[in-house]
This record gives sequence, C-alpha cells and structure tokens, in this order.
Amino acid sequence: MAKKPKKITSSVKSKPSSKGIWVYNFEDTPKADKQSLKNLLGGKGANLSEMIRIKLPVPPGFTITTAACNEFYKLNQTYPASLKNQVNESIKKVEKKIKKKFGDASNPLLVSVRSGARVSMPGMMDTVLNLGLNDKTVVGLAKKTNNETFAYDSYRRFIQMYSNVVLNVDHHNFEDLIENYKLTKGVVLDTEMEANDWKSLIGSFREQIKKETGKDFPQDVNAQLWGAIGAVFQSWKNQRAKTYRKLNNIPEEWGTAVNVQSMVFGNMGDDCATGVAFTRNPSTGENSFYGEYLINAQGEDVVAGIRTPQNITKKARLESSSKALSMEESMPKVYKELVAIYKKLEKHYRDMQDIEFTVENNKLWMLQTRSGKRTAKASIKIAVDMVKEKLITKDEALLRIDPKMLATLLHPTLDPKAVKDVIARGLPASPGAATGRVTFLADDAEQLKSQGHKSILVRQETSPEDIHGMNAAEGILTCRGGMTSHAAVVARGMGRPCVSGAGTIQIDYKNKVFRVNERVIKEGDIITIDGSTGEVMVGEVTTIKPDISGDFSTIMAWADKTRTLKIRTNAETPLDTKVARDFGAEGIGLCRTEHMFFDEERILYVRQMILSKNTEDRSKALKNILPFQKKDFIDIFKTMRGLPVTVRLLDPPLHEFLPKSEKEIASVAKILNISEQEINNRINDLHEENPMLGHRGCRLAISYPEIYEMQCEAIFEALVECRKAKIQSVIPEIMIPLVSTAKELEILRTLVDKIANQVQKKYSIKIDYLVGTMIELPRAALNAYEISKHADFFSFGTNDLTQTTLGISRDDSGKFLDDYVNSNIFKIDPFVSIDVDGVGQLVKLACESGKKYNSKIKLGICGEHGGDPDSIDFCHNAGLNYVSCSPYRVPIARLSAAQAKIKSKH
Ligand code: ADP
Ligand code: MG
Ligand code: MG
Repeated sequence: MAKKPKKITSSVKSKPSSKGIWVYNFEDTPKADKQSLKNLLGGKGANLSEMIRIKLPVPPGFTITTAACNEFYKLNQTYPASLKNQVNESIKKVEKKIKKKFGDASNPLLVSVRSGARVSMPGMMDTVLNLGLNDKTVVGLAKKTNNETFAYDSYRRFIQMYSNVVLNVDHHNFEDLIENYKLTKGVVLDTEMEANDWKSLIGSFREQIKKETGKDFPQDVNAQLWGAIGAVFQSWKNQRAKTYRKLNNIPEEWGTAVNVQSMVFGNMGDDCATGVAFTRNPSTGENSFYGEYLINAQGEDVVAGIRTPQNITKKARLESSSKALSMEESMPKVYKELVAIYKKLEKHYRDMQDIEFTVENNKLWMLQTRSGKRTAKASIKIAVDMVKEKLITKDEALLRIDPKMLATLLHPTLDPKAVKDVIARGLPASPGAATGRVTFLADDAEQLKSQGHKSILVRQETSPEDIHGMNAAEGILTCRGGMTSHAAVVARGMGRPCVSGAGTIQIDYKNKVFRVNERVIKEGDIITIDGSTGEVMVGEVTTIKPDISGDFSTIMAWADKTRTLKIRTNAETPLDTKVARDFGAEGIGLCRTEHMFFDEERILYVRQMILSKNTEDRSKALKNILPFQKKDFIDIFKTMRGLPVTVRLLDPPLHEFLPKSEKEIASVAKILNISEQEINNRINDLHEENPMLGHRGCRLAISYPEIYEMQCEAIFEALVECRKAKIQSVIPEIMIPLVSTAKELEILRTLVDKIANQVQKKYSIKIDYLVGTMIELPRAALNAYEISKHADFFSFGTNDLTQTTLGISRDDSGKFLDDYVNSNIFKIDPFVSIDVDGVGQLVKLACESGKKYNSKIKLGICGEHGGDPDSIDFCHNAGLNYVSCSPYRVPIARLSAAQAKIKSKH
C-alpha cells in the first residue's frame, strides 16, 4: 500500500462540503486537509490537483468523486441525477483550457479515463487512453498533427484498451491479430508499423469485436465516455479488486474516484516519450533518481514489458551496461526539467515519490505522483536519510515504516560463500532470497501453499489476476518487464523477493517447463532466486543471518527511546531465547514448560507420570523429570541475565503427551513394566470430548499438585544454582494458567510459596519471585478484582481468551472465518488482530479491576497478538506494561510500540 505522507502537527481537520457536488476540475478542488481530499478525490485525483496547485505541468481534467461511486452503488448501479450535467460542465472547462472539442471532427479533444482509489490499487481497472477517437475524429487528429501513423496508432490503442476494459473482449484477440499481421508483413516492432497497417488492423479489430460482443464498436464519444466511467465504478467490485482489498485490509466503503484527463502524447515521434520514475531507489533506498522511459511510446508501454525500457539517468545506464541511451543523454533539456520537478515534489510531499510522466514534442507533462512503494530496507534508509536531511522528524520517520515489512529484513539472505548453480540473471526487483518449487500458475502457487509447500511463481510477466498467487508464493520470477513492472512493484509491496526481466528464460506454459541455455527446468523442480542480485539458481542455496546494524539499528534505537511499552518474547529453548535477545527482547513473557517435555529422553518419564495410578508413582516419575527442567531453567536464566522471565506452569491436557502409535505404546509398556492393555485403558480414561475446555491448566494442579510442586522446585533450584555460579539473578514470574476463580489462584499461590520456603530453608538463600496468572477465560476477566488479590501480575493469554470469548475454536475456525471476513462481520481474523470490541473490552476491564486492588500489578499480553501492530497499539492504549511475542517479531513489536506511543500523543 502506498504510504501517505503524514503531517504530524495537529492540523485542523476540515471536511470538504461535498453535498451534491460529484465532479471537480483539477484546478478547483475544494479546500480541505490532505487526507479528506484523498478520501474524496482518490489518491491520484488529489495529487493531480495538488501538482497543479504547485504549478507543475499537468494536462487539465477533472475528478468524479468517490462519493459519486458510493452513490452509484446505493442507486443500484445508476448515476446520481446531476452527474451528467456536472460532467458536461467540466468537459467544457477542459475544452476551453486547451482549445479542443470533445467529439469535434477537425480538432478533437481526447481524454484518458483513470480509476483512482484512496490508495493505489493494482487490482483496479486499467486506464483507457485516447478516448474520443472514432472514424471521424481520427481523420481530424491526423490532419491536425500532420501525423497519420500517430493518429491511427492512437486509435487502435484506444480500441484495444476500451474493448478490453469496457467491453470485456480479451487482450489476446487483438494481440494475435497484430502478431499475425506483423508476421505477414515481416516487421518486428510496433514502431515500424505505418498508418495503413494500423488502418487495416483496426478493420480486423472491429470485426473481431462484433464477433465477440455482437455489437459495433461505439462511435459516439459520449457513449464511449460513459461506458468508461461505468466500467471504473464497476471495477471497484471486480474480483481482482476484492482480492487486493482483502489482502491489504482496504474497506469496501471507500469507493473509487474516476479521473478524466486530456491526453498528451508520448507516441508522436522521437521527440516524445513516456516514463516512470522514483525520486529515490525503491529497492535500496539510495538517494539517487531512478527510473525508466521509452521513446515514442504511450501509457503503460513501460510497465507492460512489451518493449524493454531504457534508463532515465546515465549513471543507471552505465551500471546496467546498457547501450540504449538514457533520457539524460537523449533528451538533456527535458531531463533537467524532470530533475527539478522531482526535487520539488519530494520537498513538497516530504517523502519519496513514484512519478509518471509523458513528453510530447519535447514538452514535459506530469501525469501522476504518489508516495512510492519501497522495500523494507529502502523504507528504513529513506526514513533515516530524510531525518538527517531535516526533511522529516524522528517521529515521522518511525511512522513511515510499516512494522510488518521488517520481517523481510529479519530473515536470512543467501550465504555469499555457498556454491550456486546460477542459470539466469534478471533485475534485482525486490530483495531477499527465496527457494521453492517452480510453478507457473497463480492458482497452483496458492494450492501448493495450502499443502504446506513453498513455491516460486514463474511467469512471463504478471498481471493483477496473479496477485493471490504472488502472495502465496515465496518469490516471483518473470522473464519480461523492468524494475517498475507489475511484478516488481507488487512484490516489493508484499515483501516477496522478486527477480524480473530474466530475458534468457523461455517459458513453455503448455508443457509446464522453462528453458534457459539448453537446460530444462520442470514444474516442481526446486529453484532459488535472489531478489537482491537478480540471480536465478537451481536447487536450494544455504542462507545466513541478516544484518541488523546500520540504519536498522538507528531506527530501533529511536523506537526504543520513544516507546513506553516493554517488549518481551515467547521462548523456551536456549536458541529462541538467544535470537530474541539479539533482536532486543527485554525479557521472556511466556516460557511454556510443556514444550520442554517433548524431548525424546524426557517424554518417557512424562508418560510414566501421566500413567501413574497413585501419587507415589507419580512423584517417582516427577523426580526423574526434575533435573531436566532444572537444567532448562538454568540455561534460560543464563541467557536472560537479569531480565524478567515468566514461566508458565504445565498447561495442556495430559493426553497430548500420551503414546499414540502401537509401537510407542509397546515401548512405553515395556519400560514401565505394565501391560499394553493397561496403557490403553489409561488412555481411554484420559480421553476428553473437548480437551481445550477439559482437564488442563491449573485444573491439573488442583488434582495433582505434585506436578506444579516439581516445576517450582526446578525453578527455585535453578535460581539457587545461578546464584552460586554468580550469574546475575533473574526474577522469575511464575504464571498459573487457565484460572477462572480467585480460589484456584489462592490455592496454587500457597503451593508456590510453600515450595519457595522449602528451597530457601534448604539453602538459606532468599529468593525473589512473583506469582501471577493468565487471564484467558472471560470469567477471570470479569472477576479480576478478586483474582488480583492473589496475583502480582496478569498476563493476557489472548489466544484462549479469543476462543472462549467468541466461542470459536481456533483450530476449526479456518473453515469459516474467511466467510466472516468476506461478509464484513469481522474486519480481520480475530486470532490475528485483537477483537477490540469483545476481547479488548475484557482486557480493559481486567486491567482496571486489577489496578483497583493493586495499583502496581504488572500487566502483559502473551498471545499471538503480542506481535501484531494493531493489537500492540491497543495494548499501549489499554495501559499494559509489556507485550510478548515470538522472537522474530520482537523488532516489529519495538517499532509498533513506538508508533502507538507517537499516535497517542496526537
Ligand atoms: P495506474 O493507476 O495503473 O498507474 P494510470 O491512470 O496512472 O494507471 O495510467 C497509466 C498510464 O497511462 C500513465 O502512467 C500514463 O503514462 C498514461 N496516461 C494516463 N493518462 C494520460 C493522459 N492524460 N495523457 C497521456 N498519458 C496518460
Ligand atoms: Mg498501471
Ligand atoms: Mg499510474
């Protein structure tokens, strides 16, 4: 999603009074703050009018508002009454400005019709260019410009685009006709085609359209215009747009605007061009102008991958050792203007911009600007650089970075020393390394993912129809298209590694293989791509740890200074603990002791414990487990040196540890010296209909206190040992799970204190520790005041709290949660982002009641939500002391916590 440049200074929010006005010409859009304007006019429309306001050359035009789109749907897909008139009035203003007339046979005004939602959406409708051409106006255009080839090239482009977008005639119909024609004529390039060639093709196009739709191509320019406007409105609800909205959490209520703009032509000859550029490098963040252009071309030619675009700067051309002249060399004067404009735009928006422009007879026109999509790496570098350049504040810098994107930086990159079998090279379109099975179809990538397989989506080029597959794949490889191609832009936005334009690869979709230098790679073969270098390799290549120093650590340091929420981690192995500490965790918020039981050596004793029929046998088994637990705790306390560690006592239902296969049962029987039958009986006894709500958590300890006693003994003994070894002491926070009543906690707290006393006596050492509980049942939240009388801390186990509050089993929710999200019942999966109105209310209530009794009570969260930026924002505002998340999410949480703090200040 494109980032909006955000001004933090509290601006007075003024909403434009837009009642009954559905259309605004670019030069007289209403006065309002930037965000409200974007909401009304869409990002593209708002920025076009802004560029006019700061006196940049923009072809005149007007915007039909997003409100009109919403009204269109309210009125059952019909236009609001006054819309027609308002559009006509606006066209007249444009006609007057550029002295051409819409539909005029000798001096025709041509327009583009462009969709434009609040945020840039690649799932939306394609732009229709050259609208207003018909059999008559094309003649006028040819005469007026004295360029027949240009006029008919424009007309055929218009017919192609309009037919595809508005009449739903597939692209291939036209492409095949062009291909055949070229073959017969013996030409290769579009630019070699002449007026008569296009004329003849236009004839074939129209026959084809008649065949496909049963109707003639519309000649009435007003019918053309309304057809296109309707298509934009309708595209808001097409499947591609829906998918994109879902992936990016864009609400359906936003609607899209329509921009109608007079055409400028990049296809009138060699003093014309069209291009796309970024004011800084969107991949690395380097502060150097970066872009691509094509001479004598129009619109999407640059990104469509039909012709290979050329570099804009000489520096980039030399770096890519391309011989095709850069714009800096071929059009030096226009280039200078462009440089001045991009600098002005960056200053004005105070952010890196993604711009689109066209040159018509050496005159530069700006067609779009927006905050550019960028990789995580680039977004960090740009934010840090812009603070140094005094363009933005540190707070703004922190808000500019999407915490979720950091994930791409935290995961491994290719080991430079690894042996690589490089088979092709393309452009380094989106950094990071990815390995997976070759797949050629978006649907297949999605299917592989659902089966738990990693894939690399290999396409000639991608289009918005492929978005779901790009999202499902680990990485994307294309053989056509540049750094600004669809594949590159979308991959960067999604944080997927991407290599684009690997031209030596030839894909044979039919046989599901690709060929490169005599080698054949089949569907399902493993390949690796490196989106930072552009390399394509056969097989899996080893990776190394990411570098989180430099700008990354600068941002993290700023975040740490800003935030008030502490960040802990959920970890139980020494490895996890170490990773989390390196990523900046300030303690462990959840150490699940049961995970320590699954080890091969130990599980046997655990089984022995579970299968014991009496306390005595059980205690014997527990004695065997104790040394293992103690050693684990020593290791963890060592790595966490001085930081808090929350240890959760045994939580899951016991049967999870039972032997399952016959072989396992037999071996347990042998070691325990009991019959297999006896074990099977015991397994039957332990069977539960609904284990999530069964004999688990503190309920186990109410029945079998010796289990928790052993665990506490292990914790306290570990502490004593650390103390003896002069290791900086940790204050353990002993956490009792699944409490719903104060009495449960009272009983178990007494138990913990009893063991602590025993160990203190035994070693004559004073031990510091806290005892608290998880709040993961609604009753516990409702009864938090009473419970807090026995608790030093609460930790919200929001996974279970979500299950029990919503009455939805997480493990079964996959089957229907999608429907709930699609039906707008949930905005987002409540297991991903905290359900603020339900679960969130319980959390708030419990915090307030807990503090009422004990103002110093420590409050934290240890569910999966602890690593989700929106949930972290909620936790900050609810007054929690810390969030705890998985190790790789720690940096994400640090940044999110800082953002929450900054947002709450304003
Ligand atoms: P998208 O939202 O997919 O970027 P745009 O509406 O920006 O689509 O249109 C794509 C391209 O079409 C632009 O980059 C520009 O090259 C071309 N285009 C759009 N409007 C005009 C116009 N009025 N004159 C010339 N080219 C245009
Ligand atoms: Mg586009
Ligand atoms: Mg555009």
